Amino acid sequence: MDEHDQSTEFWTALRRGWRGRCPRCGAANLFSGFLKMRSHCPACELSLEPYRADDAPAYFTIFIVGHIVVPLVLVVERLGNQPPLWFHAVLWLPLSVILALCLLPRIKGTVIALLWAHRIAAPKPSTGGFDPTT
Ligand SMILES: [Zn+2]
Repeated sequence: MDEHDQSTEFWTALRRGWRGRCPRCGAANLFSGFLKMRSHCPACELSLEPYRADDAPAYFTIFIVGHIVVPLVLVVERLGNQPPLWFHAVLWLPLSVILALCLLPRIKGTVIALLWAHRIAAPKPSTGGFDPTT
């Protein structure tokens, strides 16, 4: 596989992860619930347990939502002639929650796909290691 194929496979895996699909085949869902990962892909049998995103999706989600909402707050504060605090609470709290709920599964899928694409697997506690090629 040449470098172009690897790059194409990498971006394809990330797109599949963003859509909540298996990064290897894209045929099945990564999640069995809102954020609960499947143990393996039902279509291609890829073991998903070694690819643990941990807190990274929450971190990236907070980072992105903050970088969207905070500038909007500042723009509204400036152009809206300093609206009352209740206005900010009614506007930005629901928007922040909705944005976070929309982005979190997509970012988690993308992080899982990124881990899979780079073969970054957590070691199995029982064996002391994991071979991502199996
Ligand atoms: Zn699959």
